Amino acid sequence: MARYIGAVCRLCRREEEKLFLKGQRCMTKMCPITRRPEKKRAIIPGQHGAQKKKVSEYGLQLREKQKAKRIYGVLEVQFRNYFEIAANTSGVTGENLLRLLELRLDNVVYRLGLGRSRTEARQVVRHNHVTVNGKKVNIPSYELKAGDVVAIKEKSFSRQRFKDILDITGARVVPEWLSADQGNLRGTVLSAPARDQIDTAVRETLIVELYSK
Ligand code: SF4
Repeated sequence: MARYIGAVCRLCRREEEKLFLKGQRCMTKMCPITRRPEKKRAIIPGQHGAQKKKVSEYGLQLREKQKAKRIYGVLEVQFRNYFEIAANTSGVTGENLLRLLELRLDNVVYRLGLGRSRTEARQVVRHNHVTVNGKKVNIPSYELKAGDVVAIKEKSFSRQRFKDILDITGARVVPEWLSADQGNLRGTVLSAPARDQIDTAVRETLIVELYSK
């Protein structure tokens, strides 16, 4: 599946906020958004980035959709597919959409602290380090369900990479819809997340409005 391979911090600058796409670096002063003083935040990339423009309702909806795509590392076609599934599932469409994104395997690996960023979690999955219910799965978009057990393969346990990851993510709070056993590099999906258990700063209703036009 295709993925964005351009400059990552540029995506945060475009959204004018931190999207936490780079793991530990996002928490440091190295982050270009943290580095810039609040009033000098002409951070939108490109020649016209410094110009303050009035944002239309459509513009707001579009930005919210772009933000969600960027946070979860999903491109347009796949994101649209998630929306179609969400719209055809009973319940609130926006919440269904976020739930589908949260239950992606790469996101759960990230939430369990087995990747410093979603990009790294995706790479961990792609490089065949992950099993679901004891079977190897290397598809980042694999949808998990309640009861699924996600684990790092025993063969990969001794890799320095996972020690380094845990050094950084050990203190991270794991959401309550997951149970993590970081010592054994594994975790379980306890339930599909409710909206108030998803801390992603996205206004999903704007995305629904955009796609419902
Ligand atoms: Fe975004 Fe992280 Fe880059 Fe800061 S360091 S701009 S939060 S990706």
